[in-house]
Amino acid sequence: MKIGFVGLGNMGGPMAANLATAGHEVTGFDPAAPMPEGVQAAASGADAARGAEVVITMLPNGDILRRVAAELIPAMAPGMVLLDCSTVDVDSARAVAAEAEAAGVLTVDAPVSGGVGGAQGGTLTFMAGGPVEAFDRVAPLLDVMGRKAVHCGPAGAGQSAKICNNMILGATMIVTCEAFALADKLGLDRQAMYDVVSTSSGQSWSITTYCPAPGIGPQSPADNDYTPGFAAELMLKDLRLAQQAAESADADTPVGALAMQLYEHFVEQEGATGRDFSAMLERFAGRGRG
Ligand code: NAD
Repeated sequence: MKIGFVGLGNMGGPMAANLATAGHEVTGFDPAAPMPEGVQAAASGADAARGAEVVITMLPNGDILRRVAAELIPAMAPGMVLLDCSTVDVDSARAVAAEAEAAGVLTVDAPVSGGVGGAQGGTLTFMAGGPVEAFDRVAPLLDVMGRKAVHCGPAGAGQSAKICNNMILGATMIVTCEAFALADKLGLDRQAMYDVVSTSSGQSWSITTYCPAPGIGPQSPADNDYTPGFAAELMLKDLRLAQQAAESADADTPVGALAMQLYEHFVEQEGATGRDFSAMLERFAGRGRG
């Protein structure tokens, strides 16, 4: 397929490289990042989009996506597909879809989970929103870049699924960390705590797959001095998007709001930038109630 790829950073770079390796004709644009192996450099986003059957974006946030999409859509032929894989607010995803629709361009919002390792290994999970017809057209590309793609509903549904998932993840990681810290203070051995919780009703991905306690459970960032993994500031971004969506949809999300505040404090006041989000355990272990 002829593909335009805009945003070739930590995630977009390896995703574009995997598409090129799979034999697709990929033309890329990024004002800052290096051109990945096998990807032809374009002079602008619009240049990368011209003549492409699918244009993929992997950008930092919704404002940038809106600006870039306004440049890409007029360069795209009607019937072509704009596939945004960035994590952005639901309103921006829907606004871009509406703008594209007016120009006859199809859109799919398909944020990912899996991080840089997943992008490099082609093992990402995609949560997709948009017309089924457009999803079917990009499915072979999602297959190259990832291991699983779930069609969640109309425009914005991919972003909605992602932030709901990550709101659960942020909250369960916090409560898992505070429970480990409480267990420490009660004199309960961490291994015993893990053995019980990982097979009991308190279990979640946060403890069984990504245990925040070093030396316990499967290998996780805790075993590597909390090198991400999934950085605390990226979790904060997603929790903020969840609160933004909750406000716009008038949903009551008190635990999600508190999780956002805790990660905000952790990142902005407690120096957690660049540390894995499971380093919350050290935060709780190092303090009392005051
Ligand atoms: P990044 O900052 O490494 O890459 C973003 C790229 O966009 C940069 O190279 C930047 O130069 C480029 N860019 C900015 N403005 C542009 C413009 N106007 N035109 C073209 N390119 C432009 O970020 P990343 O880690 O690759 O993340 C990208 C997206 O993926 C984000 O929305 C992020 O939330 C999401 N995400 C990241 C991870 C992760 O672990 N890094 C995991 C899941 C989802």
